[in-house]
Amino acid sequence: MTTVLLLSDIHGNLHALETVLNDAFERAEIASVWVMGDSVGYGAQPNEVIKRLRTLPDLAMVKGNHEAAAIGEISIANFNPSAAASAAWTTEALIPEVRDFLTALPLVTMRSSITLCHGTPRNPIWEYMLTSQTAELNLNRLDTAGCVHGHTHIPSVFGRELSTNWHVIQARDTDVFQLDYERWFVNPGSVGQPRDGDPRASYALLQLTDNEAPRIQFHRVEYDVAKAQDLILDAHLPSTLAYRLSVGR
Ligand code: ZN
Repeated sequence: MTTVLLLSDIHGNLHALETVLNDAFERAEIASVWVMGDSVGYGAQPNEVIKRLRTLPDLAMVKGNHEAAAIGEISIANFNPSAAASAAWTTEALIPEVRDFLTALPLVTMRSSITLCHGTPRNPIWEYMLTSQTAELNLNRLDTAGCVHGHTHIPSVFGRELSTNWHVIQARDTDVFQLDYERWFVNPGSVGQPRDGDPRASYALLQLTDNEAPRIQFHRVEYDVAKAQDLILDAHLPSTLAYRLSVGR
């Protein structure tokens, strides 16, 4: 069995990331780490987050809308005001080495016959996987049975059975699912800015075996929210970005 740590939407929150890494590496022998985008943006430590991620074993990463905005690949005209302000701040803050690393990231990649992307396979930058219709419409753009993604900041499983029926599950702390579906999409939730009303950092462990369907375990961990908030305020990022971390919205 191989255990893969799934992380997404870290959003420059190093305090949340370190707490998740401690928790995850205590729980399991982790062979690989997959990061589904938006590692930067909103939070005050984008360079530190990327440097830390690059120390992790067998790392696979994709680009999200916040990386694309920070390196100038997409316009921030469609961002809400606080997201636009944080994208502009992040663009200024990125050191060249980190900027080059983010620029080289793919939008979609594949590991162990599973697709990794930020939003959805057909629109990795912008589309939110929120309904079974969206899942269905993405199937012909998915070359694998399974896909891990992020973007919604909500831990979830979309699993298709009997060619028509989708199971849509919002995952909670300690939930475990066997992904024995024909096709499936999994989101580990957001490390650095959860939006399901639970402010604890979210992540998942994916267990891969040769003979069985993959198994996913969801976890939530409390981290030092106040420290992450202080850094956001000290950086003169919008105060709403600090406040929302307390409420998980
Ligand atoms: Zn995000």
